[in-house]
Amino acid sequence: MNKFNQQFAIEVEDLTVAYDAKPALWDIDLQIPRGQIMAIVGPNGAGKTTLIKAVLGLLPTASGMVRFMPDGSAKPSSNLIAYVPQSGSVDWDFPATVLDVVSMGRYGHLGWIRRPTRSDILMAREALHKLGMADYERRQISQLSGGQQQRVFLARALVQQAEIYLMDEPFKGVDARTEGAIVSLLRELRKNNKTVVVVHHDLQTVKEYFDWVTLINVQIVDAGPVDKVFTEENLNRTYRSAGGLLTKEA
Ligand code: ATP
Repeated sequence: MNKFNQQFAIEVEDLTVAYDAKPALWDIDLQIPRGQIMAIVGPNGAGKTTLIKAVLGLLPTASGMVRFMPDGSAKPSSNLIAYVPQSGSVDWDFPATVLDVVSMGRYGHLGWIRRPTRSDILMAREALHKLGMADYERRQISQLSGGQQQRVFLARALVQQAEIYLMDEPFKGVDARTEGAIVSLLRELRKNNKTVVVVHHDLQTVKEYFDWVTLINVQIVDAGPVDKVFTEENLNRTYRSAGGLLTKEA
């Protein structure tokens, strides 16, 4: 195995993913920098969720390879990654309280069949408090609004104490106060040298919230520091062919 560059959290090489023979991602090469907040930006159908799921190993890949910190292993160690799925993508009929769901984030740290300890519960409560959800801990998760569900997912990811956080549209449908709470959370994670990858749709806030950006439309259009990559020209290239393959000259 090649030596893994310690500046990266994840390295994606030649990744192609297809649903029913139609490529959703085509020949993706991407290095996700360690300790930074990175946005994945692109039009609807560009393959952003597919990229996150492929990195998590949740989808079969047509070709390619994903390597993880610290040593370039193809399989992430347990507790390396916390995943925050899109709210609405989860079956909320599952009977559990908010506190149960957040405590489940500790399961990776518990042994087989162990119940969360008092300190696990305390940690879950602290995370709920951080996200302004302390008053809801006894509420059934099915009885929350979309923005509240999103905050519960984030609290659960927080207690996982992972190194890498993959978040699929955490800002979707949240109010200004929650958006502020999520931004503070991202910055706190960065301060603790965590790596955060966020699928993001609001182009107005990319420069303010993120250090790095990956522009994608089935293929990678460009990736790198926001100041260098988030240009009008690159955005035009990204959004000009929504959901379709870009030509090499694009
Ligand atoms: P959005 O911004 O709308 O959330 P996205 O960039 O996250 O979009 P993906 O959800 O990754 O896009 O979808 C990429 C492409 O793959 C789309 O053309 C979509 O229709 C297709 N696709 C996604 N999931 C499936 C599936 N399970 N079966 C077939 N096609 C799929």
